[in-house]
Amino acid sequence: MDTHCPYCALQCRMRLEGTTVEAVDGLCVKGWTAAELLSSPDRLTTPLLYGRPATWDEALGHVAGRLAALPPEAVAVFGGGGLTNEKAYSLGKFARVALRTPNVDYNGRFCMSSAAAASLRAFGLDRGLPFPLADLRGADTVLLVGANLAETMPPVMRHLRPESLVVVDPRRTPTAEAAALHLQPAPGTDLALANGLLHLLIASGGVDETYVADRTSGFEQVRQAVAAYWPERVERITGVPVAAQREAVRLLRRSPRAYVLTARGAEQHSKGTDTVLALVNLALALGLPGRRGSGFGCVTGQGNGQGGREHGQKADQLPGYRSIRDPGARAHVAAVWGVEPDELPGPGRSAFELLDSLGEPGGPRALLLFGSNPVVSAPHAGRVASRLTGLDLLVVADFVMSETARQADVVLPVAQWAEEDGTTTNLEGRVIRRRRALTPPPGVRTDLEVIADLAARLGASGFSADPREVFAELGRAGAGGPADYAGISYDRIDAEGGVFWPCPSADGPGSPRMFLDGFATPDGRARFTVVEHRPAAEEPDEEFPLYFTTGRTLRQYQSGAQTRRIPALHVPGPYVELHPGLGFAEGDLVRVVSRRGEVVGRAVPTETIRQDTVFMPFHWPQVNAVTNPALDPVSRMPEFKVCAVRVERVAS
Ligand code: SF4
Repeated sequence: MDTHCPYCALQCRMRLEGTTVEAVDGLCVKGWTAAELLSSPDRLTTPLLYGRPATWDEALGHVAGRLAALPPEAVAVFGGGGLTNEKAYSLGKFARVALRTPNVDYNGRFCMSSAAAASLRAFGLDRGLPFPLADLRGADTVLLVGANLAETMPPVMRHLRPESLVVVDPRRTPTAEAAALHLQPAPGTDLALANGLLHLLIASGGVDETYVADRTSGFEQVRQAVAAYWPERVERITGVPVAAQREAVRLLRRSPRAYVLTARGAEQHSKGTDTVLALVNLALALGLPGRRGSGFGCVTGQGNGQGGREHGQKADQLPGYRSIRDPGARAHVAAVWGVEPDELPGPGRSAFELLDSLGEPGGPRALLLFGSNPVVSAPHAGRVASRLTGLDLLVVADFVMSETARQADVVLPVAQWAEEDGTTTNLEGRVIRRRRALTPPPGVRTDLEVIADLAARLGASGFSADPREVFAELGRAGAGGPADYAGISYDRIDAEGGVFWPCPSADGPGSPRMFLDGFATPDGRARFTVVEHRPAAEEPDEEFPLYFTTGRTLRQYQSGAQTRRIPALHVPGPYVELHPGLGFAEGDLVRVVSRRGEVVGRAVPTETIRQDTVFMPFHWPQVNAVTNPALDPVSRMPEFKVCAVRVERVAS
């Protein structure tokens, strides 16, 4: 059975023979071993009600009864960027129609929201890569900011020529090691660096003035604003030497075909939206977006990080990437759902704000959670874990006993990727099929079956558990919206090997390359935006003298709930990368302490990291006890990528 890897947004193609990955298309080690979890002894196969095995009827009857007794605002739903398009859509509809609650958001808020907010502002539409990934092969220069693709998505490196790569990262990662040029700024200073590069580009006469005049608006204000980012000042803020700044601009200037790409390193900040906008400004001044062979893009992270943000599981969104505040969008979607527009709730709380309000006065008393493990993955995770304990009812649908499921009153055992049909949308906006290769184990249901059953018990009609039917409805609900899937069907995906959205008509083509004839803004022009550097919400000081930053490793994925259970992916962790100058030896046990919490890990001294910075992969519990939930004012993205810590030796 041909399907796709369950993990990251690259969604590599694979073939399953039973539970063995047989024929493949350049997988990384995570993909090769993905099928091991299908037969893991850790699989959940029986609903659990307050820790004891229960029948589905008992478990769902209990959940529906408790939910029906609460006012709508007292119930919350939390989804995930790994859920299929059909599940993301059904979950958003379930919250608004069956529960009538505004409180629905998802863990993609922690992943893509700054990139999405910036793309919407600059281009009028957010699709991570508005061009096929393979286009990168032809690039003369790719400026990659805050992405370690050699470890997080190794097969992407096939599309990147090392001699074309300029990497911006506080660590000398394997990606940076492979690059022609590595800029190593202090965490939280990418915005200043981007403004500095634009300053140098302008000073060297490298602006594509024709493109700027014909296709953009707002450049003059930006030109004036970046005059204050002269290279010596930028070196003082970022630590990137003037010569390296000049070399980056020289490489970009001399490149007829170039790309600027961002990922979580640039985006997961309390100024993440502005940081992406600063990099958009640079790309626009170079004349890259919307030009064949060049462009600007954000590299999506989670398996369905793109589709997961389009179909209405976000607090402020309806299907088709429509705003829940837009009266026209409300009327359209309400008609598809068979309700009155006034019956649809308004916008709810963003992910961290939602989790932080659980069980608090005025906050939700019950939470239904699908495809997420926030006890490990949310910032200031200790606070989130304690909020969960204040709930009257926590329901978790998962296929293993994650750290969050362990705290649940009701655990619902659900199917895995290879046991159900559906679609995902990969990082380049291509809608692809996830196919059911195996029957789920006895006792296990799909998420769609769970949602449809609960909706029926709550008295709501119109919830299908058939992925094909849900996908067709999703197309109708999103028709006419920015992410228009109306012309896409399962059959068409099969026939064409995937279809790029927007695709409004079954007769028309999809859209592999966007913005070639104009941007999705009202006047068709891309917008420059004045953005200024500001410090991180928490900077190092005497008590907490080091920057702390986090990321992913090759052999683990996200909260580790899946990959930590696969023996072949075992990594002894958690561990702490730090500079040898800090005086710790390989294997020393160290405690990383912030104002919010602490985590103990094994020291891994390395010259590849700045002396003022320590790094931990976030796949283990407690790492996010340290991180800072300071939010971006626009995207509501928490500041995962920088806070202040001290490191202490653990006595033994
Ligand atoms: Fe899976 Fe991503 Fe690895 Fe491809 S790169 S095999 S999609 S984890």
